[in-house]
Amino acid sequence: MIRLEALAKRYGRFDAVQGIDLHVREGEVFGLLGPNGAGKTTTLKMLAGLLRPSSGSIRIAGIDAVAHPVEVKRLTGYVPDRPYLYEKLAADEFLEFIAGIYEVPEAEARRRADELLEFFSLTAFRGELVEGFSHGMKQRLVLAAALLHRPRLLIVDEPMVGLDPKGVRLIKQVFRHKAEQGDTVLLSTHALEVAEEVCDRVAIVVGGRIAALGTVEELRSRSIGGRGRLEDLFMQLVGGDEWSEVIRVLRG
Ligand code: ATP
Repeated sequence: MIRLEALAKRYGRFDAVQGIDLHVREGEVFGLLGPNGAGKTTTLKMLAGLLRPSSGSIRIAGIDAVAHPVEVKRLTGYVPDRPYLYEKLAADEFLEFIAGIYEVPEAEARRRADELLEFFSLTAFRGELVEGFSHGMKQRLVLAAALLHRPRLLIVDEPMVGLDPKGVRLIKQVFRHKAEQGDTVLLSTHALEVAEEVCDRVAIVVGGRIAALGTVEELRSRSIGGRGRLEDLFMQLVGGDEWSEVIRVLRG
């Protein structure tokens, strides 16, 4: 579904992404796991067609994403880490607006919006302005909007941040459901638990490069000390004691 070859992004003189080769299959939930500044968001933005790569190629469902951005956007749903919502629209107006952008036929858009609002427990608030929504409600609405046009590829940047356990469970369900339908989910996270619990395969990204790639089980078996914990491998690759504190916090 996704094929990246030598994908790179340079901001001025800084190489944020330094030659990523990656193949993500249909029906996979795939995670980019890495510390802050690793280049995850930059990679996802290039995939979503929001940033032009400095070099390398991106193919989504066989289509060159740089040469044919609109075709690729038709196949893709994207949820950024800090989504922008039009606060003065009601939830159903927001969905109608997004459906218009993706050219979803009107009747289909209405049916789909009803379905998604119900699934994300937003039906009771559909006529209310987005500005009054809690963080979790906004996250659910943004995800509903990204799913409106039934994308074959869903790209989500840091999906679980700030969500309560119920919200996290719901999002995991959505990812699994998409994968079961043969669609692909690509997400970024710096939370080890998210990678362990929802991803079929994970790439650990450090300094703009893939430092390790495999199923969580495969990565665990590569960890030092024979303890079989993903965080050991993560520490090994990322290096630095500052991560032990971060990992301690992430582990609760
Ligand atoms: P986080 O987990 O903090 O979101 P990330 O892995 O998503 O991190 P990116 O946001 O892709 O990382 O950033 C990668 C590097 O590129 C960082 O060092 C960041 O400061 C730098 N960077 C990102 N956007 C720009 C920009 N527009 N101009 C210059 N540097 C940038």
